[in-house]
Amino acid sequence: MNAPAPTVVRGACPHDCPDTCALLTTVEHGRATKVQGNPDHALTDGVLCTKVTRYTERTYHPERVLTPLRRIGPKGAGQFTPISWDEALDEIARRLQAIAARDPEAILPYSYAGTMGLVQGESISARFFHKLGASLLDRTICASAGAEALTQTLGNKVGMKVEHFAESQLIVIWGSNSIGSNLHFWRLAQEAKRRGARLVCIDPRQSETADKCHEHIALLPGTDAALALALMHELIVHGWLDQDYIDRYTLGWDALRARALQWPPERAAQVCGVPVEQIRRLARDWGTTRPAAIRLNYGMQRVRGGGNAVRAIVCLPALTGAWRHRAGGLLMSNSGHFPVRRAPLQRPDLLGERRPRTVNMSTIGDDLLREASPDFGPKIEALIVYNSNPVAVAPHSGRVVQGFAREDLFTVVLEHFLTDTADHADIVLPATTQLEHWDIHTSYGHTDVLLNRPAIAPVGLSRTNTDIFRALAARMGFDEPCFADSDEQLCRSAIGDAQDFEVLLEHGFASLPLPDAPFAEGGFPTPSGKCEFFSQRLADQGLDGLPDHLPNHEPIGSDPRHPLAMISPPARNFLNSSFVNVQSLRDIEAEPVLEIHPQDAAARGISDGAPVAVFNDRGRYLCTARVSARARPGVVNGLGIWWRKLGLNGTNVNELTHQKLTDLGRAPSFYDCLVQVART
Ligand code: SF4
Repeated sequence: MNAPAPTVVRGACPHDCPDTCALLTTVEHGRATKVQGNPDHALTDGVLCTKVTRYTERTYHPERVLTPLRRIGPKGAGQFTPISWDEALDEIARRLQAIAARDPEAILPYSYAGTMGLVQGESISARFFHKLGASLLDRTICASAGAEALTQTLGNKVGMKVEHFAESQLIVIWGSNSIGSNLHFWRLAQEAKRRGARLVCIDPRQSETADKCHEHIALLPGTDAALALALMHELIVHGWLDQDYIDRYTLGWDALRARALQWPPERAAQVCGVPVEQIRRLARDWGTTRPAAIRLNYGMQRVRGGGNAVRAIVCLPALTGAWRHRAGGLLMSNSGHFPVRRAPLQRPDLLGERRPRTVNMSTIGDDLLREASPDFGPKIEALIVYNSNPVAVAPHSGRVVQGFAREDLFTVVLEHFLTDTADHADIVLPATTQLEHWDIHTSYGHTDVLLNRPAIAPVGLSRTNTDIFRALAARMGFDEPCFADSDEQLCRSAIGDAQDFEVLLEHGFASLPLPDAPFAEGGFPTPSGKCEFFSQRLADQGLDGLPDHLPNHEPIGSDPRHPLAMISPPARNFLNSSFVNVQSLRDIEAEPVLEIHPQDAAARGISDGAPVAVFNDRGRYLCTARVSARARPGVVNGLGIWWRKLGLNGTNVNELTHQKLTDLGRAPSFYDCLVQVART
């Protein structure tokens, strides 16, 4: 008998990446043998990043967690014994019920973007925690400063369509290493470059993307607003404004104009640490090139003034009327374009009259160590972690580890692997990967909806997140019919009638029906319908209604013991802390690295490849020095995010970061961090 022909199953990449690629998984004899980009999806164009082409290696990894586990060693030691699903679920339900009987707010869910899927992300899980009355989680760790800034200025997380960058004549790539973390946009930028476009990269690090742009502006971390204000200054002084667009479609011009005039390029050059000529040149380019577009990404908003900086940059396209052209404007996120039906998906109505407190995920280190108080509420007694690895990725990990090590904390982790976080769990539950479950995906980098079908059966005894929370709901006696919704039903309802589900079933993806140049004639989704240079909503909160430059929490030069600023952008072959345990990718990265400029290295007697300690009052991180002009003088680049246990002394860069928050959006300021470096 002939062997059955391989099947090819359509899916979507689940990772926290703006590209949200369409996947094709080849399945032979029930086993996934290959994961490729779908050539029919225009933006994916048959191409995936190196990370996800290794997806079968990750799925069938010999260290994948394939059965529920119970801890048998000290917290953090990663010593477990297999148990049955019944044992695991019974124990979790019993422990949660006992805590909930005292105060359900002592239970905290902790999740983020381990999958970007709407169903395996926050659907049945959210229903479960709402019904329970658990504490709510403020999901701020990555993007909330920028998101708040976009919302205050443009009205929502909206921007130009990514495909039109291919027609731009000037592309400013601001705060992004697109080659590493926005590959499919980079392909469009390359196309524009071939058609004669000028590419400018703004980034403290001379990234692989900066190498390939016409100009690189290596500003100091946390000075982006100063640069944007100086650009405005030059647009005003040289008359490079689209006054008609400003008059019709913006709000607060007179006030912004007065503020921008306080920022001559000489002042900004000093604050940003860049030559004044670069600022003048960029202003001229922005003021005189059409169509011109900014691809703004999230790296630059991870500083104290990150929200204000995004607000300032987002004003630039309206000043020159760049939005009039479909290849002009700005893209930071397009997720606000998608009509996701979050309330039916997550059912906040299950809370009834209860209004639980909200805990900020970015201060989990401090919050796990807090006692009960009238301000804080009850001490956190149980933590259910899914789609996240906070012990590796949350700031100030010394505090985070201390919190997770609490013997009186009951911790459950849904995972694929024994991560740094899972090592601290009382119970680990094996979760399915994207190849094993249904999901539906929007994107923050494009405007297509994608459906992910399961290609293979769950590996080992793993179960979907939804199935795990359904089973827990049943054990807790939650009998609302919504807990019986199937994953396919959840996919159908997530975006309702906005997208024909039959089209998604047939093709795997569909584009949102959006105009090509959404703000050519204003129509911003703000209260005024205009691009709000001045935000009354911010002013009403007692904040500055106009964007401004706010110095870092830890400004360079403010602490002689720690004279270097550190940023921690992702290593190219990792995505946050995902993929660090995939051997073929870790082999490429080799070891945890700190890039340091030759001048700073020489001053410390550090040679290329030398082991170094990076330290401040929060902790000490060991890694290998890479002496390189990829780091600018005064700034070191600690490439992340290694798992702590795979690092050189059981730490990673977050040993050094702090829990102080951004100006808007209550986000962490990872890239606002002073350190010293020494040979070990
Ligand atoms: S991580 Fe990004 S580039 Fe890589 S496959 Fe996923 S969506 Fe595409």
